[in-house]
Amino acid sequence: MRKAVAIAVCAAEGVLYAVIGAFLGWKNGGGIIPMMILLAVWGATWVAITKKGAPKDLAKNPDEKVTSSPAQKPQSLPPPPPLRPGEHMCPACHAKYKSVDYNSDAPLWYCSVCKQPVPKE
Ligand SMILES: [Zn+2]
Repeated sequence: MRKAVAIAVCAAEGVLYAVIGAFLGWKNGGGIIPMMILLAVWGATWVAITKKGAPKDLAKNPDEKVTSSPAQKPQSLPPPPPLRPGEHMCPACHAKYKSVDYNSDAPLWYCSVCKQPVPKE
C-alpha cells in the first residue's frame, strides 16, 4: 500500500516537473541537471513514504533491517556535485565558478550569477 502511495506522489511530482518545464520553456526536459534533481526528488519521496510503516517491523525483527537497508541506500544518496578541479560552487545560488576567471588581487570575488560574495580559493 505504501508503494502505491509513493508511486502516486512520484507521478504527481513528474507532472509538476513537466508543468514547470513547460512554464520555463525547457526543451527535452531541461537537460541533465533538472533531470537529476527530479530523480533525487523521486528517490527522497520513495524513501520517505516507504520508510514510514517500517520501523515497527524492523524493531521486532532486527534481521530484516540488514536485508532491507541495502536496497534503500542507493536511493537516499544525493548525486555528487559535478565539480572539476579549479571549480567552486557559489554558496548562495550554487552556480559553478572557476578561480582562474577571477582576479586574485581583487579584495572580494562576486558570483557572476547572483552577485553575492564568493570565497576566494
Ligand atoms: Zn551565486
